[in-house]
Amino acid sequence: MEVRERKAQTPLKEKLSDHYRKRDFTPKKKDVSKLGIAFFWGMTISLFLESVFYLIPHIYSGWNMVIFILLAIFTLFLTTINWMGMFFGSTGFVDKELSKKHFPQATETPRGWKYCPTCQVDAPPRSFHCTHCNACILKRDHHCFFSDSCIGFYNQRFFILYIVYMVWGNIWALYLQITYLNDVYPLNSFYDFFSFFPLVAIVQFLLGKFSILNAILMIQIPLCCLCLCAAVFFLLFELMLILKGVTSYESHRTGPIYDQGIGNNIRSVFGPIKTIPLQILFPLFRVDQQSDGSQWEITKTKGH
Ligand SMILES: [Zn+2]
Ligand SMILES: [Zn+2]
Repeated sequence: MEVRERKAQTPLKEKLSDHYRKRDFTPKKKDVSKLGIAFFWGMTISLFLESVFYLIPHIYSGWNMVIFILLAIFTLFLTTINWMGMFFGSTGFVDKELSKKHFPQATETPRGWKYCPTCQVDAPPRSFHCTHCNACILKRDHHCFFSDSCIGFYNQRFFILYIVYMVWGNIWALYLQITYLNDVYPLNSFYDFFSFFPLVAIVQFLLGKFSILNAILMIQIPLCCLCLCAAVFFLLFELMLILKGVTSYESHRTGPIYDQGIGNNIRSVFGPIKTIPLQILFPLFRVDQQSDGSQWEITKTKGH
């Protein structure tokens, strides 16, 4: 009882610094993250090839076929560009120059900033150390499994657009796969449905009833459903956090909140709002950030 009372009286600031001290800053092995990259590209390339060379030519003909093949190429292009924006785009590694730029006279860590013992730099508010990247990241949201890179101040817009194209790509792939299968193997009874289960499809392939490509399709359909559900969840979750002005890191931790109002929160990720439709269709469209990601105004503090 006495222990619980003492714990409740500990000031929030002390609890946070205690939490920060106890964190494990040992750099993580990268092998697991590489699996995410392999899964994403394996799915993307196989879906693209089977759509362009197999499904679209089977379902459509003439100009319709040409238009849908071009649409598939355009979808692959946009997905790739946004993925590269996440992977190669600067996530905003915090360097020594950042604090010097804003506090040239400072001799110790500026107020509201924190010293990172691993990077040995003064890091601004909202930046956090990532053990996968082994660096402090400006406005760190999370470390993305599918690109093995941190999502932060400079590349969050690419991440959102990447999920938008994941949602679109999986919906379209599922439509093509199901339309094709419905044509080749029409369901005559309820029990035929079970022949589409991945394990049953593999057995059917081994028995010579399904071609290898059809068996692959039936394994991909549940994977596409899984990716679609995950992409829709992440898209809605991330958009909700952007509107509320918090990162996913801040959403499950206590501490300061930097909610600047819905309009400014959106602008801090995407730049001017009127450019968002252009960014969706032309990901190479350049949008300059309105700040350097180090100046944030605290609007409230989230307690327990
Ligand atoms: Zn650091
Ligand atoms: Zn990271």
